Amino acid sequence: MKPTVHIIGAGVSGLAAAVRLSNAGFGVHVHEATPQAGGRCRSFYDAATDLTIDNGNHLVLSGNKHVLDYARSIGTEAGLEGPPHAQFNFVDLRAGKRWLLQMNDGRIPFWIFQDGKRVPDTKPSDYTAMAPLLWAKNDEFVGDKIECDGPLYQRLVQPLLLAALNIDPPLGSAGLAGAIVRQTLLAGGRACRPLIAREGLSNVLVEPAVKLLRDRGATVRFDHELHAVDIASDRVQSLTFGNDTIMLGPDDKVVLAVPARQAATILPGLKTPTQFVSILNAHFRCTPPADTPPILGVVNGLVEWIFPFRERLSITISAADRLMNAPREQLAQDIWKDVRAATGAQGELPRWQIVRERRATFAATPEQDALRPGTVTAWKNLVLAGDWTATGLPSTIEGSIQSGDKAADHIIGGG
Ligand SMILES: Cc1cc2nc3c(=O)[nH]c(=O)nc-3n(C[C@H](O)[C@H](O)[C@H](O)COP(=O)(O)OP(=O)(O)OC[C@H]3O[C@@H](n4cnc5c(N)ncnc54)[C@H](O)[C@@H]3O)c2cc1C
Repeated sequence: MKPTVHIIGAGVSGLAAAVRLSNAGFGVHVHEATPQAGGRCRSFYDAATDLTIDNGNHLVLSGNKHVLDYARSIGTEAGLEGPPHAQFNFVDLRAGKRWLLQMNDGRIPFWIFQDGKRVPDTKPSDYTAMAPLLWAKNDEFVGDKIECDGPLYQRLVQPLLLAALNIDPPLGSAGLAGAIVRQTLLAGGRACRPLIAREGLSNVLVEPAVKLLRDRGATVRFDHELHAVDIASDRVQSLTFGNDTIMLGPDDKVVLAVPARQAATILPGLKTPTQFVSILNAHFRCTPPADTPPILGVVNGLVEWIFPFRERLSITISAADRLMNAPREQLAQDIWKDVRAATGAQGELPRWQIVRERRATFAATPEQDALRPGTVTAWKNLVLAGDWTATGLPSTIEGSIQSGDKAADHIIGGG
């Protein structure tokens, strides 16, 4: 009989680990502090818009292998929807200019040699100037490796890196930026098709995993917050929740898949990132104009990305700490103004909601990146998962699921 594994945290990292371990025949118990699974990647009913919305628009790419494999394993790969080729519409609100970036499918970037496919006002040599990011070291800044100026930077590199790193790019880790460029621009269009969970994050990436786990006999407990672990020498002996304590058997394992701050509280002395950056999303209840592209990048606006859904337009602003205390009504008006200019949506401010996730991601600086621990810990029966562990990627669903897979594989391999 395979050992039992307790997974603490039902974000996508914990769910990915749980599904993988359950597939391998382990007894799985998931313990989640809140009343719902998904963590920072979840849907909820919002009374202000009378819609079910996501806490944030989540973009993944067709080359995100771990996300796609996970979605396949829970039967929802088709729920990640996007165009057949890697195409990104952009609008520059200040210049009043629109363009369509069209990457060819293969790895050789023919598109950078074709006017009308690459970014306007750029030339092929601008793209090769990004190469230093590919061999950047982890302790280097983006701003030390590339020129953070000019049309290519402002119209492609800045939006891409700001979205991926969630920090003003020059201040970001060049090593993490290099990983993103390798997975996107360098991997070719086939790996860069933008994918969205159009029917909602919970429908596509969360609830089917919970159902699959329960159908297999795993337990998934909500409102079951881990408060402390009891450690004796090099092993976790017991897990203490609100009113109950679970004693671990000699072969039982623990996957701690909680955010960095909670992990550091549960395991004092654990080295984790300590700085976090917010993301702001706004949702407007309306019928998107028929020609709104599936994803629209906005340059020189307050808004950075616009996503159309069936009954709403949703926008993302990354590295949004400056907006955390801004008056909500004014913010909604300002954002709606950008949305109208970018999409041609008409009318006064419709029903809206603003979601500010204050600790959306760890700060992707070289200093914070150096604080990320690996999967294996000093405690023989406890491994870590989460987007903040040392995945080599910034805080992303891909990194998060990769970490859950790695934690599960360590246990499956007898660790
Ligand atoms: C607004 C926003 C937009 C984003 N956009 C993108 C995007 O476009 N693309 C992308 O790839 N990524 C994006 N991300 C990042 C992505 O959401 C995260 O990387 C990912 O969801 C993290 O998953 P996780 O499992 O590592 O952590 P979490 O989602 O934080 O999960 C941890 C879970 O542990 C639970 N927990 C905490 N403490 C305890 C405890 N003591 N006991 C039990 N349970 C506990 C929490 O409640 C939570 O459910 C975005 C994030 C946000 C917030």
